[in-house]
Amino acid sequence: MTQIDIPVGAHLIGGEWSTTGGTALSINPARPDEPVGEHAVGDASTAADAVSAAVDAQKAWRDIGFKRRAEILEAAAILFDQRADELAMLATLEEGKTLPESRGEATLSAETCRYQAGVIKMPRESVYPSSKRGETIRTLRAPLGTVGVITPWNFPILIPVWKIAPALAAGNTVVWKTASNTPLTSVAIAKVFQDAGVPAGALNLILGPGSMGGALVADGRVDGVTFTGSVPVGFGIRETVTARNGRVQLELGGHNPAIVFDDANLDVAVPLIVAGAMGSTGQKCTATRRVIAVGGIYDELVERMGGAVSALSIGDGQDPNTAIGPIVATRARAEVAEGLDKAISQGAEVVATASVPDSSECYFAPTLLTGSTSLDIWTEEVFGPISTVVKVDSEDEAFELANNTEFGLSASVFTNDMWRIDRATHELQAGLVKINAPTTGSEIHVPFGGEKSSSGHAPREQGDTALDFFTRTRSVYINPGTPAP
Ligand code: NAD
Repeated sequence: MTQIDIPVGAHLIGGEWSTTGGTALSINPARPDEPVGEHAVGDASTAADAVSAAVDAQKAWRDIGFKRRAEILEAAAILFDQRADELAMLATLEEGKTLPESRGEATLSAETCRYQAGVIKMPRESVYPSSKRGETIRTLRAPLGTVGVITPWNFPILIPVWKIAPALAAGNTVVWKTASNTPLTSVAIAKVFQDAGVPAGALNLILGPGSMGGALVADGRVDGVTFTGSVPVGFGIRETVTARNGRVQLELGGHNPAIVFDDANLDVAVPLIVAGAMGSTGQKCTATRRVIAVGGIYDELVERMGGAVSALSIGDGQDPNTAIGPIVATRARAEVAEGLDKAISQGAEVVATASVPDSSECYFAPTLLTGSTSLDIWTEEVFGPISTVVKVDSEDEAFELANNTEFGLSASVFTNDMWRIDRATHELQAGLVKINAPTTGSEIHVPFGGEKSSSGHAPREQGDTALDFFTRTRSVYINPGTPAP
């Protein structure tokens, strides 16, 4: 199945591949009766062993110096490019998304490693004037120490890498608790870093249920935790980590709006909104869940979006004709179906759906709804390919509605009016504001993160701010050890 020589389904602890604990099968949501492979399932003691290995390795990894760490990340970048096809195949088999979507994650991972290897060489320390002769005052960026990385399944390659690369670059050692739906992809990623030269203990991977993440965040030896996932889990992690005065970074849910003004060019807007809503089977934190049509454009927008949604081809992510793969697992699919049923029972109208194969229970028809803002689906994140369009009469109403949510991850505006664009950049309460562009998608050299309940208060991930979370600033006063002549 894959050319990558991975130690099948093993944890990586202190440089050793270990199958301690129980076992489980990794399931392909497009072909549930053809498991992708077997993998180890650890417990709290596995997490503790991995933390011990990371703590033991930290000093040596710090002292190896930034130049060598950057060289190792550059070697990892080359391997991510070389193994992009195999990594993509694993991610598609385990997560369900299409091969081009998975491949994009692999190549962006290469770019992330290369970029973070460059950022660590940039001047980030300062020299201050001193009131005393002979004294030098400077700041130093010290690594946090050992960090916990906890990741979701929906970007099984890129999200782990965009956390691990800057963490390692800054001189931290890492314990990575990956999502239980994508274990074998995670093993292949850990193998990339190992083959690139990351020494034993600097990166540790643990496989298993969420409770292992709980053990990791409660471990007082873990100096910081970076988490991407759902709001309740993220808020619980924040409570645990801050209670022991650790550092925590959260990237959580979204409920992202696209405002379409009546001057928008629908030839441009419709494909972008549908891609933003339905791409990766709607399983993106930045997916377009809400579409706000302003005034007279509503009818044509709904009609054209409906046409685009019903034309989507749903199928196995390995099939080159597939635009939208299955939902990651039967339980996740059931939650999405429940969200849709509830919306319909509350009065939402189904404008369009696409047809789905019956070869797996995980397929779910992308669905376009119209309805009112009183629907639960208008305020709650349903993590699948459903988008709802509502009509408003004025620009003021549109901005108010867009912001009327607990989330603030991403927001789009479609218009050619420069004053509306200016207003959007200042007034939309979202970490990503996209003009004539989908709510999804970002560049790895640009800071990424949300506002309100979509994020915590730590520095942004990605871009040149990524290192800020993984370092602490130390002020150093250096004086001559002899009296002034
Ligand atoms: P999840 O919160 O269920 O799980 C995320 C990770 O946390 C997994 O590795 C899981 O095993 C682990 N975990 C579960 N319980 C835990 C606990 N008690 N303590 C510690 N770790 C625990 O989320 P998911 O279903 O994997 O991902 C979907 C969610 O992620 C959606 O809400 C989506 O919006 C969000 N997401 C956000 C971003 C972003 O950048 N803001 C990106 C992708 C996904």
